[in-house]
Amino acid sequence: MSADLLAGPERVDDVQVLEADRHSLTVEQLRLMMGWVYGADGEQLADLWQAFNVQLWGGRLEPVPMWMPTCTNWGRWIGLYTHTGMGRSLSIQVKWQLGPQGRADVLLHEMLHQSLAEARRCTAHNAAPWCQEVMRITRELWGVSIWASPSVPRRVAGKSTRVQAPGPDGQPSITRKQIAGWPSSCGLHVSLHHLLERCHA
Ligand SMILES: [Zn+2]
Repeated sequence: MSADLLAGPERVDDVQVLEADRHSLTVEQLRLMMGWVYGADGEQLADLWQAFNVQLWGGRLEPVPMWMPTCTNWGRWIGLYTHTGMGRSLSIQVKWQLGPQGRADVLLHEMLHQSLAEARRCTAHNAAPWCQEVMRITRELWGVSIWASPSVPRRVAGKSTRVQAPGPDGQPSITRKQIAGWPSSCGLHVSLHHLLERCHA
């Protein structure tokens, strides 16, 4: 998109009209839609979305259309969250070939992006809000205490390097790569059956 398209006031008005016209989906509509496209696998993804939403975010997240593409742009990603930049979610995508376990792990990762975007907070991996949530959810879902802090450039002994602040008790941070690939990069996997049982109880 060229810059002058974004600059004019008329363009801004267009976006605002579109925002007002976009109706919210209910959890039931999301489940119906997911089942319509993907059958039982789609319904399961919708159920997991709602289980995470209730347990981790108090049911505050906005139901968002989800897709399970069989191939992704240049094979570069396995999950993707898109939003308007104005606190509205557009879509979550998780790569089909990951299978039920991998898709659940990636869904949790994308929902963390979603929760930050909807709260109008920074959605980047290498930033404090993401790191704080990684620690909170790891404790909540797995009972594991980890320390995650953003990597920042520092000059050490005349050399430019990157450092991650340790925790209050000196606990080292998980690596930047682990933070960006959480939770599976930390060896953590969502307990599928446990979550789904709860949501059908
Ligand atoms: Zn991410």
